[in-house]
Amino acid sequence: MSTGLRIVMLGRQGAGKGTQCRRIAEHFGVPHISTGEMLRAAVRQDSVLGRAVKQVLDAGQLVDDELMVSLVQGRLGEPDARTAGYVLDGFPRTVSQAQSFDDISRARPVNLVIDLAVDRELVVSRLSARRTCEQCEANYVATGSEPSPWKCDKCGGAVTQRADDTPAAINKRLDLYDQQTAPLIDYYRAKSVLAVVNGVGTPDEVFARLVVAVEGVTKA
Ligand code: AMP
Repeated sequence: MSTGLRIVMLGRQGAGKGTQCRRIAEHFGVPHISTGEMLRAAVRQDSVLGRAVKQVLDAGQLVDDELMVSLVQGRLGEPDARTAGYVLDGFPRTVSQAQSFDDISRARPVNLVIDLAVDRELVVSRLSARRTCEQCEANYVATGSEPSPWKCDKCGGAVTQRADDTPAAINKRLDLYDQQTAPLIDYYRAKSVLAVVNGVGTPDEVFARLVVAVEGVTKA
């Protein structure tokens, strides 16, 4: 294997990608690159990019492919990703993005694409109860007996519901996933880089399965 561990994580919204990618990043020493986090940070900072994408994000729609490819290309060109690799979360999201990703990563192609598999029904209930730290994006499950205001255990930030975790936006995002992103599973299976990992279980159980899948590549 050429230097670096380059992973793409696929999976429905609410499958646990963010949480598990953060753990993979820490365990294997690679940067976690989440396109959703990059876009939400731009919205919070009210940058030119943030102002351009805010409404698209809030409605649960997809940001333009060209903009996404250039955002990812810029990030993957930074020293940490060039040397250590990455775990990419939220990109590619369409076949067209995947084709552009092939073009921009030809020198250092992806080693492993993971499909973190969780049924739609289960993710709908997970997403409705999901609360997220506005600062570090740690996820929590709302039970109805939380303090108000709710502060993040990890960084002290405010824990709130993401603007796109409303029922209408959740359904929109899941429809888009089935139509636009699920075809990538076959796309990467045909390239022999796909591992399907069962995403149902406790976070520790799922993480243990992911480590086995990643080690299958690092030890090959
Ligand atoms: P996520 O955190 O991955 O659920 O992404 C949140 C939102 O950011 C999505 O609903 C899209 O509006 C936008 N987004 C993130 N990644 C992409 C991408 N690769 N292509 C288009 N839109 C994206």
